[in-house]
Amino acid sequence: MNERFVEKMSDRQVIHDVKVLADFTQIWCDGHHADRTRRRVETDAALLDVYGRKTPTLCEECEAHLAYGEKRRAHCPKDPKPFCAHCDTHCYRIEERTWQQQMMRYSGPKSWRKGHAIDGIKHVLEARKWRREMERRSAQAAADTGKD
Ligand code: SF4
Ligand SMILES: [Zn+2]
Repeated sequence: MNERFVEKMSDRQVIHDVKVLADFTQIWCDGHHADRTRRRVETDAALLDVYGRKTPTLCEECEAHLAYGEKRRAHCPKDPKPFCAHCDTHCYRIEERTWQQQMMRYSGPKSWRKGHAIDGIKHVLEARKWRREMERRSAQAAADTGKD
């Protein structure tokens, strides 16, 4: 675990983001891997006690995804950070990105019942903002092409 990771894990926003990631991953693992051997995770953030009493209990595969996500969040160069799904310089490995998209699609709607209503609403608002920005960029690109 490097110094930057430890430092970032005391930032309120980073802590919030990794806790949401952990909760969403728990929902995914509960729904898909309840028959696997699962344990209280020992990711770097868990070892720093970021999750406290809510330390997730995951299978080995989901623990690895969570550990990967924790690192990406700690080393994210974006400030302010958009939702990863809307990031123009997505830093995830392609297979991790695919997994995260699948997991968010599954866990997002269920998170509303698990105390993440505010995060769910933020996702909807952010998605709208992102769609408008994409429309604005396409219109701008079309206008620029018309000038040539
Ligand atoms: S995908 Fe983008 S927003 Fe998400 S951690 Fe990577 S750089 Fe940051
Ligand atoms: Zn799992």
